[in-house]
Amino acid sequence: MKKQRTLKEPVTVEGIGLQTGKKVTLTLKGSPADSGISFRRTDLPDKLTLNLRTINLADSGSAERRTTLGFGPLQIQTIEHLLAALSGLSIDNALVELDNEELPGLDGSAKTFTDILKKSGIVEQDAPKKFLKVDNVAWCSSKDSFIAVFPDEEFKISYTLAYNNPALGTQFRSIVVNESNFEKEIAPARTFCLEEEARELLKRGFGKGANYDNTLVMGKNGPIKTTLRFPDEPVRHKILDLIGDLYILGMPVIGHVVAIKSGHSLNMELVKKLKEEKTWT
Ligand SMILES: [Zn+2]
Repeated sequence: MKKQRTLKEPVTVEGIGLQTGKKVTLTLKGSPADSGISFRRTDLPDKLTLNLRTINLADSGSAERRTTLGFGPLQIQTIEHLLAALSGLSIDNALVELDNEELPGLDGSAKTFTDILKKSGIVEQDAPKKFLKVDNVAWCSSKDSFIAVFPDEEFKISYTLAYNNPALGTQFRSIVVNESNFEKEIAPARTFCLEEEARELLKRGFGKGANYDNTLVMGKNGPIKTTLRFPDEPVRHKILDLIGDLYILGMPVIGHVVAIKSGHSLNMELVKKLKEEKTWT
């Protein structure tokens, strides 16, 4: 039987938020078996703490260009890349402390998070690992986007991306997610946006910490001022985001997630549905 895992030693990383551009120090610590993943804002007087297993997502889960937990000024933004690393490395219990509203963007992928989690050391705990095993098909759709989860014996993601941009086009990847392929195939994939939407996003207050290294700004001929880490880096990043968003469920999913052009808000809808309907055991 698989056991739960947590971090051995606290680790700290500094950076700026991809969307807000605000400086933040992030510290990751171990936590007891069955405690799940918690986020704590150490800069707030009451040190707001949110736990993924107990949070009420109807009140406090939102998503536009990134995934946010909390409400009003009590927010924790862009949690998905760290959550993907925690899920990918099979870490069940951790305390995430930050002193600003958004997690650091770092290189725009989950690579640095994966590196520092491994540097901390990952230890087994004396308690069986818990999973959400999907029993029934659940799905959500919005305009031309779709996401569904089907019963399966493994955690599998099949993602289709389609953009009216020659450098992106249509990309498809299907992967059984496990520790070794997450680190090699998914974690290094960086976030991206279209060249024509970059200026508009900045105007709307997004991407203040973005640059050509941590964000693939996709022009007609490919990313501007950088080279791709994988020929299909964008679809790999969409899978990374989805792994992170699904981990908001508080434990790993056993099921096959099939997504077409799904982003954070539709991912979050599926997570809410799975939490409410409990179509899992
Ligand atoms: Zn992302």
